Amino acid sequence: TKGATEALNLVANTLGQNYLQEGDEVLIPPLSFVATANAVVYCGANPHFVDCHESTLGIDPVKLRDYLSTQTELRSGHCVNKSTGRIIRAMVPVHTFGHPVDLEGLISIARDYKLVMIEDAAESIGSYYDNQHTGTFSKLGILSFNGNKTVTTGGGGAILTSDVAVAKHVNSGRQFGSFQA
Ligand SMILES: *Cc1c(COP(=O)(O)O)cnc(C)c1O
Repeated sequence: TKGATEALNLVANTLGQNYLQEGDEVLIPPLSFVATANAVVYCGANPHFVDCHESTLGIDPVKLRDYLSTQTELRSGHCVNKSTGRIIRAMVPVHTFGHPVDLEGLISIARDYKLVMIEDAAESIGSYYDNQHTGTFSKLGILSFNGNKTVTTGGGGAILTSDVAVAKHVNSGRQFGSFQA
């Protein structure tokens, strides 16, 4: 892709076709580059900011589980925010400055609260969690090769997915340029 911003937008759009609905909420950390929140807004969903952990600098799973247990309830298999009445459909953890988030904790929350996880690994090329590269723990992850990142091609990004249907969908969006900035 042209960059991780485009990659995130394509991913959000892919989710949008199959999954994310306008007005849904997506959990993201406030400590990130603006592209993370923009991708959520881009597909008509609402960023819902949740606290970071002071050592991983990523979403704090202990605080998040505690927060979701009081703030949400499961209604027909969906995680609903009791204050807004909206469905919280996904979360986008960011591996800040290359530090992997607590993936084990977040994956278990995603399972319990029926959230899709998209990893923003724009800053974490070369970072591993449990001997596995960051960005590959969920169905969708993204990398950035922008000039200010760990490994750069000047500009560019990549989408990581193990799902063939998703790969085909994002690839057609990319080639036909509907999301080029
Ligand atoms: C840099 C960055 C992006 C956007 O990457 P670009 O390739 O510059 O579009 C997205 N998310 C995070 C966390 C970033 O640091």
